[in-house]
Amino acid sequence: MSLYKIRRVRFLKTFIYGILMMFFLSCLGEPPASMTNPTSYDTAKPDKIFHWKMTTTWPPNFPVVGEVAEKYAEWVEELSNGQIKIKVYGGGELVPPLEAFDAVSQGTIEMGCGASYYWAGKTPAAQFFAAVPFGMNSQQITSWLEVGGGYELWKKTYAQFNLVPFMGGNTGVQMGGWFNREINSVEDFKGLKMRLPGIGGKVLEKAGGAPILVAGSEIYTSLERGVIDATEWIGPYHDYKMGFHKISKYYYTPGWHETGSQLEFFINKNLHDALPPHLQAILQAAAKRAQVWVLSEFDKQNGIYLDKLVNEEGVEVREFSKETLDALRSYTDEAIQEMIGDDPLSKEVYESYSNFQNRIAKWSEVTEKAYYNKIQK
Ligand code: CA
Repeated sequence: MSLYKIRRVRFLKTFIYGILMMFFLSCLGEPPASMTNPTSYDTAKPDKIFHWKMTTTWPPNFPVVGEVAEKYAEWVEELSNGQIKIKVYGGGELVPPLEAFDAVSQGTIEMGCGASYYWAGKTPAAQFFAAVPFGMNSQQITSWLEVGGGYELWKKTYAQFNLVPFMGGNTGVQMGGWFNREINSVEDFKGLKMRLPGIGGKVLEKAGGAPILVAGSEIYTSLERGVIDATEWIGPYHDYKMGFHKISKYYYTPGWHETGSQLEFFINKNLHDALPPHLQAILQAAAKRAQVWVLSEFDKQNGIYLDKLVNEEGVEVREFSKETLDALRSYTDEAIQEMIGDDPLSKEVYESYSNFQNRIAKWSEVTEKAYYNKIQK
């Protein structure tokens, strides 16, 4: 081959490679800001518009907890006068639901929405920012996070993973679940196959039951076919939509395993820290609004749907006995100690949580409890 031909082939190869790269990059679209500009906010461009993606751990448009992600995006855009635009994706649309944490940590997606008990495998301390059996209720958790040192510990826990957490709402006390057998004492949990994730599942195991892992979409048929004898889900609103009342005999209360499940938003820390202070404040303010909106919506809808279940569907609501709950509480203490093990951060977080709970419980005893017992109709 002549020198001319070799040069011509090299030129053509470079040219074709260049065209292919241009095509490839155009297919990728704009890379996330965190990949192109991870640490510095360009103060020369104070009006820069941020286009972000939020991935959630919920199915697309899931009532309340999925809806709040859309609302958060609206509030942030409104408050920032259009400077932060967030597009929300349901679990699985961008990444599988349980990969949200890693995707945001690595900065391939700017932010996520979920509940921190999903990340207990990353660090056991994460669990305490979502749901602790026999733990605090939503009002008490909000107080712990807002003014009791809880939020600082949450930030410390998530900083290890290059994330900044924000409150994302609270479910309030959940229901204890749907059962196809009566639960009169803790003995009745023996041999019970129940869909009950998290620490609650470990407690059930200690009580002689079998926690069964079932995906949300398969719970109904599993209960109908007797693969499981019981399941918990959330509360009347979501449970009604799942149709559990059609195939289950007893609806027990309270949800000892989820006494006020805390939800969250989380943002890539590099990206968050590079924002100007007013945008950071907006992300925080919208999260506080989410905290109020979620519980308000849960309370409203659960009131409506409890009425439907009881008065239209004839569902019998039963309470676990005090003896049953006391036994489950002592199993819970064991399960939590095992979970903490010798992890110093988990110890620090749980100590803060339980000290706060012990103190606030005494106050709630003489006010909230007296209100529920003697004033509420
Ligand atoms: Ca639940």
